[in-house]
Amino acid sequence: MTDNPLLLKFDTPFQTPPFDLIKAEHYKPAFVEAMRQHRAEIDAIINNPQEPTFENCIIPLDRSGLLLERVASIFFNLLAAERNDTMQNIAVEITPLLSEHSDNIGMNPLLFNKIKAVYTQREHLGLEPLALRALEKFYDDFVRKGANLDQKDKDRMMEINAGLSVLSLQFGDNLIKETNAFQLVVADIHDLSGLPNTHMAAAAEEAKAAGFEGQWLFTPKKTSWIPFLQYAQNRELRDQLYQGYYMRGDRNNENDNKAIIQKMVNLRLEKAKLLGFGTYADYVIDNNMAKTTDNVYDFLNRIWTPALQVVKEELAAMQKIADRERAGFDIESWDWWYYAEKLRKQKYDLDESEIRPYLLLENVRDGMFYVANQLYGITFEKREDISVYHKDVEVFEVKEADGAHLAVFYVDYAVRLGKSAGAWCTGFRNYLKTEDEEVFPLVSIVCNYPRPIEDKPVLLSWDEAETLFHEFGHALHGFFTRGDYRRIAGDLPHDMIELPSQIMEHWAGEPQVLKEYAKHYQTGIPMPDVLINKITNSAHFNQGFMTVEYVAAALLDLDWYSLNQTFEGDVNAFEKAAMDKKGLIKEMLPRYRSTYFSHIFDGGYSAGYYAYLWAEVLDSDAFSAFKQSGDIYNQELASKFRKYILAEGGLDDPMEQYKRFRGQAPSEEPLLKKRGLK
Ligand SMILES: [Zn+2]
Repeated sequence: MTDNPLLLKFDTPFQTPPFDLIKAEHYKPAFVEAMRQHRAEIDAIINNPQEPTFENCIIPLDRSGLLLERVASIFFNLLAAERNDTMQNIAVEITPLLSEHSDNIGMNPLLFNKIKAVYTQREHLGLEPLALRALEKFYDDFVRKGANLDQKDKDRMMEINAGLSVLSLQFGDNLIKETNAFQLVVADIHDLSGLPNTHMAAAAEEAKAAGFEGQWLFTPKKTSWIPFLQYAQNRELRDQLYQGYYMRGDRNNENDNKAIIQKMVNLRLEKAKLLGFGTYADYVIDNNMAKTTDNVYDFLNRIWTPALQVVKEELAAMQKIADRERAGFDIESWDWWYYAEKLRKQKYDLDESEIRPYLLLENVRDGMFYVANQLYGITFEKREDISVYHKDVEVFEVKEADGAHLAVFYVDYAVRLGKSAGAWCTGFRNYLKTEDEEVFPLVSIVCNYPRPIEDKPVLLSWDEAETLFHEFGHALHGFFTRGDYRRIAGDLPHDMIELPSQIMEHWAGEPQVLKEYAKHYQTGIPMPDVLINKITNSAHFNQGFMTVEYVAAALLDLDWYSLNQTFEGDVNAFEKAAMDKKGLIKEMLPRYRSTYFSHIFDGGYSAGYYAYLWAEVLDSDAFSAFKQSGDIYNQELASKFRKYILAEGGLDDPMEQYKRFRGQAPSEEPLLKKRGLK
């Protein structure tokens, strides 16, 4: 018998984790035991002497590893929200064991043979569509890793993967070194004219830490270079700092990334060809909603053309300001932020301090609960009897309109030592239905909002309020996900996963909704129309630039991974040709040049950088359906969105599911309108 709470049935309300009983020393033995059980479950499938069937192979595979999922979700969520040395040490010890464990299952040839045997007869098994889809996904997971290759190709695949992981580490390492190597040290305060005090203070801190006490230090980190380019009047220094940023990895020194890029695109091409695809982009996009590389090119081009038109207008408006000020030069890439800021002040001035008093944290929270209630009828009841990992965390029981239990929802708002930066949505358990029981999800949002100081209220910025709605959209996806197979339940592809979250941002900013929740924390008066208009208008600011900058990078990514022959050319020449072909204006660069494009050489976005914008097309199009209906809480649309996207989005082809909700394929028009590009 064990007394490890992680390994016992949770004897708590809704079987929530008993955080008050879980101690650091429980994790490692729980991981070891959970991996042992998972291995035993897989061995039982492999060693079953009977012919493999859906029932004796796929179902037990789908149900396997539940205990490990439980232990890992609790551990890794706490590692992100409550990091300390003890947790960090456990992570260092356990992570390699976990990755070995998952490789041993995910690349197990005996297990694959069983799955393949079932897959081969799939047409004759009388499987219902969901069972068939789960089977196909399991089979595909193995095939996409090379399970069907002969031994020689398998060996080559392993070499390629090993090579790629070394190269991408080198790429990232070079980038860190290059980012740290460039320093703009300013000694004369006159050279900082225009820069707001907060940014000067930050630069003074940086300088002090780097041994330049009494001076100011600027670096190619975004929080440092962007404010400088935005505000500093010294044009010469703006140019120097911007070069410090965009020349990273391209200085022909020991940290140069060009040779690495060449090797990586070639290895990825070879990998795609081994797996039967013409290009690496084809291999990646085959698994996405977009399906084909051509679809993605067409999509990006439809955005590119109007955005390029608008960016030229933005440039002309900025040049006008420069001319009026008798600047005496044509605007260049390093002037963009400076004149855009002037344009912003002139046209869209949105002062955060005017907005914040209307965005009391509790009001924003109640606002998102209100929207969810209007759309789906669900309610939120605060619970004090559910254990939490930190006293900051609030817990709610989420109930259906008829009072039935739906989920447990944790919200961890405040910034704390040991919490990772940013905001995210996660969970401690997914929905699961088996023959014996139905288990409901435990979903959690973690943010880094300011801590309440004494009894002062927490007032959010507009960005922070939108972020709360965004993460809450992921949470709704978690509450509503259904399906009998874990492999496909809630499994939205990479280019669709942000639809549930981003669509909630539309409700957050909708005037009718703002009137409901954005009430002055002292007077209770709803946000006045002039402020609402400012929020709405500011959404159009600089969108030509933002869009072109982004799409240029997305096209560059796609061009690299659409190569169908070994690349032996020059990286910069390739990049220049890619941009020239699209007519990118010389006054700007793509958001990422190749030599510091981490997403695609050192992250999970190779041939997938387009996905952010693809998802934004979906959320804009989906929300426009509500708007067009004349009722932003349209019940018929809400119930279709819940069913086809949130509950069952993973259960069929994503485009088909989208059309079932929308009645038609998504269009770019609403996005172009929202960004002011049309
Ligand atoms: Zn998100």
